[in-house]
Amino acid sequence: MRLVFLGPPGSGKGTQAKLLAARLNVPAISTGDMLREAVRQGSPLGRRARAIMESGELVPDDVVIGLIRERIAAPDARRGFLLDGFPRTIEQAEALDRLLAGNGGGLDAVINLSVPEGTLLERTLGRAALEGRADDRPETVAERLRVYREKSEPLVSRYRAAGLLTDVDGSGEISEVASRIDRALAGFERAAGRA
Ligand code: AMP
Repeated sequence: MRLVFLGPPGSGKGTQAKLLAARLNVPAISTGDMLREAVRQGSPLGRRARAIMESGELVPDDVVIGLIRERIAAPDARRGFLLDGFPRTIEQAEALDRLLAGNGGGLDAVINLSVPEGTLLERTLGRAALEGRADDRPETVAERLRVYREKSEPLVSRYRAAGLLTDVDGSGEISEVASRIDRALAGFERAAGRA
């Protein structure tokens, strides 16, 4: 399975991607986690990305495309993977298509998690209190949402037009959302005639 999770900050992408990856036994690949790790290590990439991430903007496409190119070439991604937080721009989506085309096939499905805006704010502010993420401050969350609407939301129609999108209601408890994702994927596979 090669899956992509789409959704605004606070939609539960990261949480659900990790849970689903464990159920499917494929790696959950998060460019946000990879970048945060680089920042922690103070590597050249981390030094470059830090201020951008803290302002809520996007790291340049070529940087994240390079990270993904290497990561999906790793042996553990051979059986499939789940992408969380990539692609985030049309350019990244096009690069992903090219990478996968050269790598024996395309995506199987794209899960679009949607959550009312009030819940997004509640969740990111709750996470700020728990995890202390620098980009979960209220001003930065507002900017990340704006960037999401402008740069990433167009991916929803792109993948819908490609027949890959499945919409999942991301509100409620973690386990409820996980069950909805399972049902959506099963329904999606049936509809695609692959089950
Ligand atoms: P996330 O954990 O996915 O919310 O990502 C945290 C931050 O990392 C984002 O606000 C961006 O600054 C950066 N980032 C993560 N993934 C990408 C991506 N695919 N393209 C550009 N920037 C990214």
